[in-house]
Formats: sequence, structure tokens, C-alpha cells
Amino acid sequence: MYDIIILKEGYTHLEPHGTLRACGSITLLKGPRHNIIVDTGNPWDRETLLQGLGAQGLKPEDIHYVVCSHGHSDHIGNLNLFPAAVHCVGFDICRQDEYLLHEFKQGIPYEIDEDVEIWPTPGHTGSDVSVLVKRTNLGTVAVAGDLFECEADLDCPGLWQENSERPHLQQQSRIAVLDVADYIIPGHGPMFQVPPEYKKQMRVIMIMEEHYSSSDMTTRTESPGVQPDDASTSQPTPTSQPKPHVSISP
Ligand SMILES: [Zn+2]
Repeated sequence: MYDIIILKEGYTHLEPHGTLRACGSITLLKGPRHNIIVDTGNPWDRETLLQGLGAQGLKPEDIHYVVCSHGHSDHIGNLNLFPAAVHCVGFDICRQDEYLLHEFKQGIPYEIDEDVEIWPTPGHTGSDVSVLVKRTNLGTVAVAGDLFECEADLDCPGLWQENSERPHLQQQSRIAVLDVADYIIPGHGPMFQVPPEYKKQMRVIMIMEEHYSSSDMTTRTESPGVQPDDASTSQPTPTSQPKPHVSISP
């Protein structure tokens, strides 16, 4: 069973003079077969990471996989602490200069082992991933990067849409993750339990419609079901049955 240890809780604070202080969550998945870091904070988090690992009796070379949910600067700042690990950054999977050709774009998850899968969950950027950890003592936990900004964004779509490159696509990814996760570690807030009503897609869509009915038509073009080029732009969300894949050994 994997232990889930939040080494740093992500945050976003608006400062009085108009700047934003933000950093992504850093999470350690400590398991029987692999040790995995999901997101590495920003470059100033190096000591936090080292100390957090040390408290778990781990060194950087004990980490087998480093997954960065996407390429923004507050998530990828310490990749070079882990030269021995397999790096999964967005849709790229590599070990040193060897890249694995994995079809995240086709909606196919990458299975690290029987308990941990990396799902393509694009929208915040074009190539976001989330890490799904199954059979933990909390059930299924999704370490989701900025797919979810924080718990409050469930009822307040503006919180995640503000920073979304593709809100319609992100919405599909969110629904897929809400459907399977019991708990979510968001990019910029504490871990939260998925409320039962969000297990049903209807609640999410209702919230979206409430939101869009108070927005203008420019925003509306991105709302569910009215994307003009749905078929060409949307990517399939992952199925619960991942297809076979080739893997890179850590
Ligand atoms: Zn981001």
C-alpha cells in the first residue's frame, strides 16, 4: 500500500500590491515497489524537498519516478535533484535522454505499477497529467496538479478557469478524475475529500451552467456541449482500463 505524504502544501495568495504568491503542492508517494515524487515545487524549494525526504528516511537517489503534472515553473523547479529517476513531465516520459513514446494524447494512462497510474488530464495546459493512487487507506487518491486549483474551485469555476488554456477540455478531465477519486491533492491547496454529489457528473454540469448563465457570450463558447470544434479539439479522457504499454525501468 502506498503512503501519501504531502511534503509541501501548494498555495496561492494575492498580495496587497497586486502580485501573486503561489507554489504547487509537492507530494511523495512511498510504496512497496516505488518511491514517487509528484511535482517538485520551484527552485527555492530544494531544501524543503531534501528535508521532507530525509524525514521519511529517503535520499533523492531513492526516488524511482518524478512526475510533474505540467510544465509551469512552480511544479518543475527541482527535477535535477533526481538524475537517477524516470522523469514524467506532462506527456513526456524519459530516463536521461531516452524518451518513451507513450500515447497520452490518445487518452491512454501510463501504469507505473498496479497501484499507480499517470492519467492524461489536459486543459490547464495542453499536456497535464494526474497521478492516481489506488488502494490507499483513503481509497483512491488523485494527485492532480492544477487540474484542481483547490477545494473551493468545485463550486467556483472561475478559480480554475482563470488559469486554464482549454477550459472545456479541463472540464472533461476534471469529471473523469472526480468520478474515480475519493480524495484529491490539488495544485494550490490542502487535500480534500470528493463530495459524494460530485461523483455524479450532473452536479458538475449544473455548477458550470450556473456559472455560464452569469457570464457573457465570449466565455460561453467554451462551455460544455457548445464547443464548435468539439470533435477535432477534445482529447479522449482515460478509461478505467489502461491499455498495455512499454515501460522504462527506473
Ligand atoms: Zn500551472
